Amino acid sequence: MKKTTISCAVALAFLSATAVGQNAKSNLDDAFAAIEPKVIEWRRDIHENPELSNREFKTAAKVAEHLRNIGLDRVETGIAHTGVVGTLVGGKPGPVVALRADMDGLPVLERTGMPFASKARGEYNGQDVPVMHACGHDTHVSMLMGAAEVLANNRDLLQGTVKFIFQPAEEGPPAGESGGAIMMIEEGVLDGPDAPEAILGLHVWPGDSGTVIYRSGSFMAAADGLQINVVGRQTHGSSPWLGVDPIYVAGEIVSAIQGIPSRHLDITKGPAVITIGSIHGGVRGNIIPDEVEMQGTIRTFDVGVREELHAKLRSTVAAVADANGATATVTIEGYAPVTGNHPELLRKMMPTINWAAGEGNVVEGRLITGAEDYSFYQERIPGLFLMLGVSEPGIPVSERPSNHSPLFNASEDALIVGVRTLVGFALDYAEVNGD
Ligand SMILES: [Zn+2]
Ligand SMILES: [Zn+2]
Repeated sequence: MKKTTISCAVALAFLSATAVGQNAKSNLDDAFAAIEPKVIEWRRDIHENPELSNREFKTAAKVAEHLRNIGLDRVETGIAHTGVVGTLVGGKPGPVVALRADMDGLPVLERTGMPFASKARGEYNGQDVPVMHACGHDTHVSMLMGAAEVLANNRDLLQGTVKFIFQPAEEGPPAGESGGAIMMIEEGVLDGPDAPEAILGLHVWPGDSGTVIYRSGSFMAAADGLQINVVGRQTHGSSPWLGVDPIYVAGEIVSAIQGIPSRHLDITKGPAVITIGSIHGGVRGNIIPDEVEMQGTIRTFDVGVREELHAKLRSTVAAVADANGATATVTIEGYAPVTGNHPELLRKMMPTINWAAGEGNVVEGRLITGAEDYSFYQERIPGLFLMLGVSEPGIPVSERPSNHSPLFNASEDALIVGVRTLVGFALDYAEVNGD
């Protein structure tokens, strides 16, 4: 009798442990219902008070105060200027995972007309500018604050440790400063005893509100800044044969480099874009100048394609310049590698993403030629980067304001889906990645 009782108790304990393991999220409905209005309120507040890259002082202070109030085990501030990292140790041992939100706004004059629209101003590279959360980082901060609170209140369900990374300057630090993901990593957010083994980031996007958009492998482009300086020899505009015309050579270069993606790269490995967005040379019509400076951007989705493009760009520019008796220098400055979703991790986490958004609301996206400095975390550890749709479905896709538009807005209904995705990843990671 006693023996039977014991084995029943053991069996029950085993069953309940299994149930908690498999359904750690099943009892969180009340927690999500309670957090949703808070996330919306935080988002409105942060939206109304945006701050530029590396100047996220008030935002960081709000985040740090919240993380301390909810009883995280550790809250570190001042990382990479204004970054905040909170650490929550779960009730059960397990791996360390990271969840990341970026905090900065943009020099954009908001035209949404919302009651909590920004009237803020800031200084950007010496200029007084309007500031707006035109990329939706206000929602990223508030969703991660919400996820931290839900997880902190349910730490007994958490197997392992979660690092909440609130990152400054995703849009790029001001001229002459460093910052962003690369600086957070340099300052050790992926190192130490709590080194995360995987990371999740979300970004709001003009997809249908509440959908989660993924892409296995490459999702967002690698971005490189490009500068080409062409040096000729100045002469009178009436007598070009007496000098070397760098404007003519620059024109040839602009044409020739467009042949690289279309004629030389294996585009089955991923598309590529080269854009020259700025050309400067000369002061008046009858003087052929000494020099022309061009600036541009390069986008690729494959490491090999990126390297090949850079090499071909250098050789093409040199050859065109040489053929015309000019010289040219090419400077390529890497902004960010490819951002994407680790295929195996994505496959394992897909049931969690489906749970978070609801079946039918998880959709495969197209390649995005924009870039993200989140890719630097993914150079170090496997990660997922998911887009959260925040546009009203009734509006045609072509009419939805894009990120960085003065009209960009995020549907508040979608925010809880983001919170669920972040919480679900933290709770399920250990289980789906266990032996
Ligand atoms: Zn942006
Ligand atoms: Zn962004």
